[in-house]
Amino acid sequence: MIEAPTSGIEQQRLDALARYALAEVPHDPALDDLARLAAQLCNSPVAAISIIERDQVVLIGRYGTEIESAPRHSIPCETTISGEGIYQIPDARRDPEWSPGGIPFGDRRYRFYAGAPILTPHAVPIGCLAVLDTAARKLTLAQVESLESLSHAVTTRLELIYRVRETDYSARERLRVESALTVERNFVSAVLDTVGALVVVFDTAGRIVRFNRACEIISGYKSADLVGKYAWERLIPETDVPAYIESFDRIRSGQFPTTYENYWVAADGTRRRISWSATALVDSQRQVAFIIATGIDVTVQRIAETTIRESESRYRQIVEGSLGMVATHGLGGVILSINQYGAQGIGRRVEDVVGHPLTSFLYPNRHTTLEPYVQQLLRTGEAQGLFHLQHLNGEERVIAYRNRLVEPRDGAPYVLAFGVDITEQIRAEEQLRALIRQSNSVLESVGDGIFGIDLDGRCTVVNPAAAQMLGYRPEELLGRNMLDLVHHTRSDGSPYVASQSPIALALRNRTTVRVSNEVFWRKDGASFPVEYVARPQIETAEETLPVSAVELQQPLAEQPNGDATASIASVPQAQQARLTSPAPIVEGRAVGVVVAFTDISERNALDRMKDEFISTVSHELRTPLTSLRAALGLVAAGALNARPERIKQMMEIAIGNTDRLVRLVNDILDLERIGSGKAELHRTTCSVDELMRRTVALLSAAAQKANVRFVIEANNVQVYGDADRILQTLTNLVSNAIKFSPQSETLISEIRLTAHNVTPDEALIEIEDHGRGIPSDKLQQIFERFKQVDASDSRDMGGTGLGLAICRSIVQQHGGTIWATSELGQGSTFHFTLPTHPSGHLG
Ligand code: ADP
Repeated sequence: MIEAPTSGIEQQRLDALARYALAEVPHDPALDDLARLAAQLCNSPVAAISIIERDQVVLIGRYGTEIESAPRHSIPCETTISGEGIYQIPDARRDPEWSPGGIPFGDRRYRFYAGAPILTPHAVPIGCLAVLDTAARKLTLAQVESLESLSHAVTTRLELIYRVRETDYSARERLRVESALTVERNFVSAVLDTVGALVVVFDTAGRIVRFNRACEIISGYKSADLVGKYAWERLIPETDVPAYIESFDRIRSGQFPTTYENYWVAADGTRRRISWSATALVDSQRQVAFIIATGIDVTVQRIAETTIRESESRYRQIVEGSLGMVATHGLGGVILSINQYGAQGIGRRVEDVVGHPLTSFLYPNRHTTLEPYVQQLLRTGEAQGLFHLQHLNGEERVIAYRNRLVEPRDGAPYVLAFGVDITEQIRAEEQLRALIRQSNSVLESVGDGIFGIDLDGRCTVVNPAAAQMLGYRPEELLGRNMLDLVHHTRSDGSPYVASQSPIALALRNRTTVRVSNEVFWRKDGASFPVEYVARPQIETAEETLPVSAVELQQPLAEQPNGDATASIASVPQAQQARLTSPAPIVEGRAVGVVVAFTDISERNALDRMKDEFISTVSHELRTPLTSLRAALGLVAAGALNARPERIKQMMEIAIGNTDRLVRLVNDILDLERIGSGKAELHRTTCSVDELMRRTVALLSAAAQKANVRFVIEANNVQVYGDADRILQTLTNLVSNAIKFSPQSETLISEIRLTAHNVTPDEALIEIEDHGRGIPSDKLQQIFERFKQVDASDSRDMGGTGLGLAICRSIVQQHGGTIWATSELGQGSTFHFTLPTHPSGHLG
């Protein structure tokens, strides 16, 4: 036995055999036909077509035998294939390899063998076509050629089998691939339709090939409506089409992968913003076959992004453009950010502030620690108040802040600070407050009435003096129409049309108007004569304070004696000229009028009194002077020379009248001195008892003459006052009491002088007589100058009519009051009060 060759040739042969895979191919009857043909042509009983496997010989075509296979080397095939042409063994019994029995094949032995190798198209021997015979013999030349031809035919047949098998295989493979493709396609479809992403497949022309479910939902179009159409026919907004086609061209030209965004117009007309990622499917020639675009709807996201971007830029603009300090700082106080304006506000650059602790910018001694501030932020999330910061130039800047704690989810908490520099505001407010305080105190302290009215005539401000003079409470006047309320008629009673009043005129002409012959009306319906100055209030654009407030200052400041009461109404001459200057006062908007008025009824009354006084005094002086002149005239003319007793009489009249004149002049001087406050009081604590006794002693002669008796009950009362003046008062009152007591020689009349304390601060002194009494309607009048109950009193009683007026002045100067009570024919009592000690203030 020869070992199976394992050479390269053998391997090549086995590979070639494997290619035919004959074991897998069903038996081919055509090979049997070729075997029979070989047997017939070679005139042999047996023919076999065999292939040589690794360890056996397998018959694939046979004639005259049933053998299927035989052990390798058991037949001469091996030699056949190693040779070139036909291999013949004419008589095996004589052949050393096969003798003596011959070639065993099946259950028989053969003497003759002829085999032709079967070669592949590449000339690799894989088997042989052999004929066998039991008789020894040789093939004829023709038979040799036939056998060779048949062996070629076997090769052809094997090739055919191979081809057929190959074709079958690829057909089967195609089928398999196709079905796999179908599965794959269905799978892809399912996947495409389940995924949330938008997937569109385009062909290279841009026509839609696939349009998944997500696309259908977003666009509102059915896949079937769009497949085969161009995206720009329906989905792309008209204006975007050129740009879309351009970008599609770019993708098609092979720029992958690529991302882009565009708008889709949905079936309902709404626009969706889609973000796409496109890639290409290439074919075996690496040509773009399809374009797959996957996208997500970013409409909401883009809107949100735009909104955020806008709000961020707005926020930035606000922060940078804000006229405030916007900053952030950590809980430890280190400044994390600040806007430029904020940094500039304290004279620094942003980089000089950021990274530094807040405390390093605080004004010294203003804040000791930030602790309470931070604590409050942590407790309530917010803090507001004032920071006093130090400007680089050392100046203190006050920042009103409202800060908020921000606690981000993914970062350290910090404080967002927003502050406004209110330094100037505070200064202005302080000035304003001072100004308001000043003007309020001016308004309150002046005796003149001051009110302001707006353009509609409504009261905007009123001082206590004005309210009091008009008989209202200030709040009753505010907001009321002052022209209607207090200034509705002229002094002659004729009604005033508001627009024609000098006050309206002041506003219209923007000039100051001074009026002195008008009347204002009180709440109780009474009117009083007034003098007033109406000055328009002008507000200039740059002015924050009303002009009036400023203007009110000036007269005050200009007053040489600082007398605030003079500020408005009793305008000095120089100022009056300034106020009444016809030119507009200030350029600006008139917002109202300020009216300052004085009640001139008292002044009028005084003027009247003065006139009366002068005429009375002239009259009073003329009477004694006339009689003095007459007496002296008679004496001087010598007419009475013969009658010395008449001369004496005349001289006595002259002396009497002179005394009266002296008294009169003294009283007038006294009254003037006391009334004008020129006579200063020398106050001490005085015993009323002692003063009463001195009075009585002074008047004892007159009392005796009048037959009057005194009763003194001073009750140890002490008063605090000027002893001489009190004595003068008592003397006046007691002398009147004596004068008006019944002058009777028989009847003694009593005059009581009493004193007692009505309060610890106040003593009441009374002088009671039993004289003729005073009519009740004269009880007040008699205290006026030259007022007497009876015109004859001065003549008969030698009075001047000034005594009680002097008493009243003295008592009032002491802070007391004086009055009289009386019952006609029964007597009169004069009462007056005085303080009992220095601090006792009497109303
Ligand atoms: P005269 O100098 O006239 O006394 P007075 O001012 O003292 O001036 O008094 C004014 C007037 O008051 C008197 O003229 C008198 O008419 C009246 N009168 C003053 N005291 C009394 C009295 N005790 N009884 C009655 N009448 C009096």
